[in-house]
Amino acid sequence: MSAVTPVGLRFDHVSHGYDIGGALLPVLEDVSLDIAPGEFVALLGPSGCGKSTLLRLAAGLELPRAGEALAGGVPITGPGPERILVFQEATLFPWRTVRRNVEAGPEARGELAAKQARVDEALRLVGLEAFGAAFPHQLSGGMAQRAAIARALVNDPRLLLLDEPLGKLDSLTRLNLQKDLIRLWQDRGFTALLVTHDVEEALLLADRVVLFSPRPARIIEELRVDRPHPRRRDDPVLIALRTRLLASLGVLEDV
Ligand code: ADP
Ligand code: MG
Repeated sequence: MSAVTPVGLRFDHVSHGYDIGGALLPVLEDVSLDIAPGEFVALLGPSGCGKSTLLRLAAGLELPRAGEALAGGVPITGPGPERILVFQEATLFPWRTVRRNVEAGPEARGELAAKQARVDEALRLVGLEAFGAAFPHQLSGGMAQRAAIARALVNDPRLLLLDEPLGKLDSLTRLNLQKDLIRLWQDRGFTALLVTHDVEEALLLADRVVLFSPRPARIIEELRVDRPHPRRRDDPVLIALRTRLLASLGVLEDV
């Protein structure tokens, strides 16, 4: 697979909320954020503040109540194969093999026959070439998440939206998948927007970390992580940034 042309993402004074029994629950408040094509941005913030909502707006699964969300300068009006969301739960179809799961996107677009080599390549990219015939219940948590990532990659996303994709994995699997994500991002060249609750993960992966307040989410801090890959978690620059982020999150901790 050749690399993709990444797409930039812009939230322009976006506010959003949900109607709960006739009352509006405010979730995002005047969020403005500019993400460059090919950039890797991590979103951090307290549980329930609105991070997943922001990803759903980028995916086109919701439309903002105020302001605008734009991809490549064009207002987002619905979902599209160039912007793909990967969830915390792998959400594979349990009745389909790994390969048939990866084939879902091309199949829905009527491109299955033409995309067989792409399906092979996507499975290879995530190290599952030997597991195409396996069913989801036969996979470990890490393999299931890899399959979900392959199912996204086969569509050649120009923007990959990752909603705590490693959140439920054990720590060793998590470390391996963090490396995989960076490799895939470097190989494929997509723009990446990652929600995580793990400060260290944000600092290991992202070019920029954006910190949100409790709901309704406002941006309270943005910092650039100007370090080359591969990064080391004991890098003094990252440790200093970690201390700063934890302080901003109001978490008192000895580092
Ligand atoms: P986060 O991902 O930061 O944990 P979410 O964006 O999932 O936060 O949710 C933000 C708030 O919006 C929460 O209070 C949640 O209960 C509420 N919420 C999320 N989705 C919906 C929905 N579809 N309908 C009503 N409320 C929702
Ligand atoms: Mg969430």
